[in-house]
Amino acid sequence: MNIILLGPPGAGKGTQATRLVKERNMVQLSTGDMLRAEKNAGTPLGDRIKAVMDAGELVSDEIVTQLIDDRLAGLAPEQGVIFDGYPRTLAQAQSLDALLDARDRTLDYVVELEVDEEALVKRITGRFECVACGALYNDNYKQPIKADTCDVCGSHEFKRRADDNEEAVRTRMAEYRAKTAPILPHYEAKGIVRRVDGMASVETVSKGIDAVLDG
Ligand code: AMP
Repeated sequence: MNIILLGPPGAGKGTQATRLVKERNMVQLSTGDMLRAEKNAGTPLGDRIKAVMDAGELVSDEIVTQLIDDRLAGLAPEQGVIFDGYPRTLAQAQSLDALLDARDRTLDYVVELEVDEEALVKRITGRFECVACGALYNDNYKQPIKADTCDVCGSHEFKRRADDNEEAVRTRMAEYRAKTAPILPHYEAKGIVRRVDGMASVETVSKGIDAVLDG
């Protein structure tokens, strides 16, 4: 099964993708994670995209499509994939169609997480994660049980994303509205869009997505 998780920044795509990887043995292809890895490694590509990412703008279609193509090339044909944060423009959606066709893969569902933008700003500007194990926390919703200690692995080191500040978040929202939301009709024409209320609890969102995938 191949699916796209679609929704503005902070809608819960990453949380759900991580869960689906564990529960369904799928692979998460997150262009945001791939780009952050390039940025943090200080590769030539990373240096080129740093300013664009930190401002909350979109990296070029060619770069992200190349990253996705490289990852798909390394996967067994039967390996299910979750596209997380890709595609984000109509051009990327069209490139993905071609990439999937070339590998005899079918896109089963585009799951759109519907959310309230103002609530998202609060969600995103509060989020942080454990450096050691990646467990996700939030100043406003989910503090570690013991202050400054990861519930999962006990590490004391946490980090925040460079683009999780209010100004960059507003830009990312605007980019989503202007460039990403317009790809929905492309998938609606194929009859594969399913909507899930992303403002519900993680548990309820999980159930909603599971109902789609098992439906
Ligand atoms: P994310 O982790 O998905 O929120 O992505 C973080 C940032 O990486 C975005 O704000 C963009 O700057 C960049 N990015 C991630 N995925 C894409 C994509 N598919 N197309 C263009 N830029 C992307």
